[in-house]
Amino acid sequence: MEELKKYIRSVPDFPKPGINFYDITTLLIDPAGFKKALDSMESFVRSKGAQKIISIESRGFVFGAALADRLGIGLITARKPGKLPYKTIREEYDLEYGTDSLEIHSDSVTNGEKVVVVDDLIATGGTLRAVCKMIERLGGEVAGISVVIDLAFLPWREKLRGYDVHYLISYDSE
Ligand code: AMP
Repeated sequence: MEELKKYIRSVPDFPKPGINFYDITTLLIDPAGFKKALDSMESFVRSKGAQKIISIESRGFVFGAALADRLGIGLITARKPGKLPYKTIREEYDLEYGTDSLEIHSDSVTNGEKVVVVDDLIATGGTLRAVCKMIERLGGEVAGISVVIDLAFLPWREKLRGYDVHYLISYDSE
């Protein structure tokens, strides 16, 4: 899958100095690249027997929605606080400076349901861990995590110990 790297644009110093931003819009705009990424994510999600997908605002929605349609299963959206209209549960997670939160509807997962979490990229793993915790709080089972890009030089493995994490391409250094 390393061939997919040719579809990813890396943008230095975005959104602030020192951050190398991995831009997936260049993957989405290329039908062959987007299809290759989805094919691989689809096999993983299928192999985990997922009954639902949960995708993370906002780039995760693009992959999550396409996969949910391919598999014929439901899609949950994890959103920034204050966006979801009904009863929600919330998890806070650490950022480099400060904290952020995500919410999901409290009736979006039923007891024992197998859910796969989908996003574009894994960095520190804080975002994905917060989403996994919410699924578990509602009685669901995190059957796996699927992302396009792994930033292997960041210590997410510790945070996501015990979860089956699938990714398509890895970057070993910034
Ligand atoms: P983290 O919680 O640190 O694993 O951050 C993951 C989330 O932040 C994902 O939703 C990514 O879209 C975004 N993100 C973090 N770092 C980068 C980066 N270097 N390039 C692109 N997106 C990033």
